[in-house]
Amino acid sequence: MANIIAIVGRPNVGKSTFFNRLVEKRQAIMDNESGVTRDRHYGYGQWTGKHFTVIDTGGYVTGSDDVFEGAIRSQVVEAMNEASVILFMTDCHDGLTDLDKDFAKVVRGLKKPVYIVANKADTAEWSYQSHEFYGLGIGDVFPMSASNGSGTGEILDEVVKHFEDDGIEDPDGDIPRIAILGRPNAGKSSFVNALLGKERTIVTDVAGTTRDSINTHYKLFGKDFILTDTAGIRKKSKVHEDIEFYSVMRALQSLQDSDVCIIMIDATRGLEAQDMNLISLALKYKKGIMLMVNKWDLIEKETNTMKQFVEEIDEKLGQLTWIPKMFTSVTEKKRIFQAIELAVKVHENRHRKVTTSQLNDAILPEIERYPPPAIKGKYVKIKYITQLPTASPTIAFFCNLPQYIKAPYEAYLENKIREHFDFEGTPIKLVFRKK
Ligand code: GDP
Ligand code: GDP
Repeated sequence: MANIIAIVGRPNVGKSTFFNRLVEKRQAIMDNESGVTRDRHYGYGQWTGKHFTVIDTGGYVTGSDDVFEGAIRSQVVEAMNEASVILFMTDCHDGLTDLDKDFAKVVRGLKKPVYIVANKADTAEWSYQSHEFYGLGIGDVFPMSASNGSGTGEILDEVVKHFEDDGIEDPDGDIPRIAILGRPNAGKSSFVNALLGKERTIVTDVAGTTRDSINTHYKLFGKDFILTDTAGIRKKSKVHEDIEFYSVMRALQSLQDSDVCIIMIDATRGLEAQDMNLISLALKYKKGIMLMVNKWDLIEKETNTMKQFVEEIDEKLGQLTWIPKMFTSVTEKKRIFQAIELAVKVHENRHRKVTTSQLNDAILPEIERYPPPAIKGKYVKIKYITQLPTASPTIAFFCNLPQYIKAPYEAYLENKIREHFDFEGTPIKLVFRKK
């Protein structure tokens, strides 16, 4: 059995706070507004060398018993079935509640190790309150504070005893993670649905991917990829996602989780200011970027329509013409897979490592042909060029007077690098160092 921990419990006890601590990375969207339905979240963590998957079951809408029952069935039971160890979280500040007792009934029937984690035991005084939870008759109670970390080591020591092997480090580590972003109505959910339509393309991985998990792992025509945040497919049934703040947060989260952003635009509207904002955001986080110009079926076409369209976009993009474009029709299923293929290509470009000799052989002659302009009678001499071992491409130029390289010359160098090496879709950072 794989090493999987499920964190279950009523809303607001601190499940996502603990999840974030375990995966050592902020993944779940924090939301203090009780009753906001969240999707299940998967993350990876490790303790004393043992790797595991964590499932945060999220909150569920409280209210009538029906809603409670339904939510338990659809989210929590599923997570509990996948898990090898269950952490049943309660809240020392609130004490034992009726909802905790309802939950205990579900948990008690499982033939799996269950631990009661009495959260918010931030101080010794609060820890004493945790004894109350022995009353649930489930087993050991571990007082813990998800926010300050106390008690978390003790509980993890217990949990990893149930793991037979060391597990695997983030199994999705090398697979391109793709975010699909864009204005409302561009066709994002239709696109995801078109991909989802191919039922067997969804890979069932360690954690047991399901349709409503946040990050979905696909294998399509031999390409592996993960769509970060596929929740758009269910948005019509969920009232709370209309909250603008929530959807902006969600898009940002999806962008941060990704390697490559597909920014989808509506061909009938062209590239708009909000699309430019998304591009700036992707640039800021140094993500791979491509444009998916969707609803191409609605455009009347003549011989040069696509070329003209590209020119119009490029004019708005200015320096950023290296962002590739794919013209699609999601409803007519045109070039949907090519769009994914391009995103995977961008991911490869973003990981491209050019050797120092390749860089110098290609770029030093370009510098000789068009050297940096002299400033105050001083000449800048670039001696050699090397790519730094960073996550997204950074190229270092070693020279005598790095402070004299100005933006236009920097742009020239970037263009030359792009002419010689395929960095299509990926931001490149140039740094100038004294040598
Ligand atoms: P979830 O609904 O169970 O996922 O709960 P959250 O993780 O969203 O936490 C609900 C609230 O409890 C948030 O305001 C957290 O900041 C707070 N919280 C979480 N863990 C602790 C803790 O250990 N101590 C205290 N005092 N507050 C906590
Ligand atoms: P989202 O808000 O970005 O998720 O957009 P939706 O996927 O909900 O799509 C908005 C509307 O555009 C729906 O009515 C879709 O059927 C329609 N749509 C999506 N893709 C295309 C396309 O390629 N061509 C046309 N003509 N309509 C599309």
